[in-house]
Amino acid sequence: MSDPLPEVRLHNTLTRRTEPLEPLEPGRVSVYTCGSTVYKYAHIGNLRTYLFGDLLHRTLEYLGYEVRYVKNITDVGHMRDDQLDALEGLDKVEQAAETEGKTPAEIAAFYTDAWLEDEALLNILPVDLMPKASDHIPEMIDITRRLLDHGLAYEVDGTIYFDVSAFPAYGQLSGQRVSETQAGHRVEVESDKRHPADFALWKRAGQDRLMKWPSPWGDGFPGWHIECSAMSIKHLGEQFDIHTGGIDLKFPHHEDEIAQSEGALGHRVVGTWLHGEFLTLDDAKMAKSAGNIIRIADLPANGFEPLAFRYLALTAHYRSKLNFTDAAMHAAASGLGRLRRAVATAPDDPVDAVTEPMVSHRARFTEAITDDLGIPRAIAIAQAVASDSGLTHAQCRALLLDFDRVLGLSLDAPGAAKAPLPEGVAALLERRAASREARDWAASDALRDELAALGVDVRDTPSGQQTNVRRKS
Ligand code: AMP
Ligand code: ZN
Repeated sequence: MSDPLPEVRLHNTLTRRTEPLEPLEPGRVSVYTCGSTVYKYAHIGNLRTYLFGDLLHRTLEYLGYEVRYVKNITDVGHMRDDQLDALEGLDKVEQAAETEGKTPAEIAAFYTDAWLEDEALLNILPVDLMPKASDHIPEMIDITRRLLDHGLAYEVDGTIYFDVSAFPAYGQLSGQRVSETQAGHRVEVESDKRHPADFALWKRAGQDRLMKWPSPWGDGFPGWHIECSAMSIKHLGEQFDIHTGGIDLKFPHHEDEIAQSEGALGHRVVGTWLHGEFLTLDDAKMAKSAGNIIRIADLPANGFEPLAFRYLALTAHYRSKLNFTDAAMHAAASGLGRLRRAVATAPDDPVDAVTEPMVSHRARFTEAITDDLGIPRAIAIAQAVASDSGLTHAQCRALLLDFDRVLGLSLDAPGAAKAPLPEGVAALLERRAASREARDWAASDALRDELAALGVDVRDTPSGQQTNVRRKS
């Protein structure tokens, strides 16, 4: 019999405890992540949330679990103002279509492609399935009908609302009480809801609405939350293991998803809820609607490669806020460069012996990642490996490449040997090339010594200077 897989502990928002993951099927984990609303480019804050899903995905696979991972595409139903359930509320995708002179389907296709390109730049692994909300209208209508049958929803003039007061468990995830949500809500535009905290499952389509479908209640379109109930249940089953998203989705989106899914099925659906904290810019939440956004594709123009952002995201625990600054990106780029140099300068030969330090580094790495995705600790362990003089170069390389299955930093990518040179080195190389052209051999030798002191060996070849960055020990 094979060894049991290592236990993974995760902080479950629902129980507010860090607890062992007990997959419904031993060795197999089903994961659902709320994906992007495809009406604008994703920003690096959104991508931080998908990176956290990717770290969960990679961690589980590294440990030997089989993962079924579904991440949806929101192409309908997400209104500009979530509080505005009324007919005059604007659908984000429809509004972008109007502004850009395209159809909603064109907008969704364009921004879906852009999002997936951004994910690829960050080495976010593809998931098993990316269902689109607009392909699941019948499933959403079916859940809505069941909720009506169970007395958990009511119709007002073609719009169906979930009746939160009929669902006593409402608030279990976010800790919000129905009475507080009422107090916390601003004056409602629509007056037809029985309770301010009730939310729309299905909305009657106004005259100008582009995306609408026939339903038992007339032409309409789904509320935002119902899509994730429909897609998660359809593709992962009536019970699944893990649901992730950014912290802002905890309420109302996920609270409402629980009400819909559990209300329709009559039992618990999701075992573990995980929420990732925000990326901030100047300590304010980066948000598409606020306009203070940075795209991953903007980074190279500022001198940063996308994977330096991945490294930065890895240095903060997913449940901690992370502030994006130039200084933090410089530190991340240099941390990444250090790991790459440790891999690139090591010979590619097989590790002949697995020694005690290797075993202990690997054990500490596993301990870190299984402790509620302790990736910052895992990064620190990788850096300790890079500078551990008790390891041979081959051992160091083997360990780092093993860890990279979780970290996803492309430590051995073909370009990795050309990892950013230590600071100041490029300028010294330029000066040395100039002195050689001027046949100033004394200056050239002095510069070679200066470079050597920075850990960079230079060789002169017919095609110019060749550098070798030594691994620091
Ligand atoms: P949206 O496309 O607006 O539906 O958001 C997609 C995902 O990005 C959701 O899981 C949000 O919680 C998450 N998100 C939005 N803004 C940020 C941010 N500044 N930092 C981290 N995650 C965010
Ligand atoms: Zn969702």
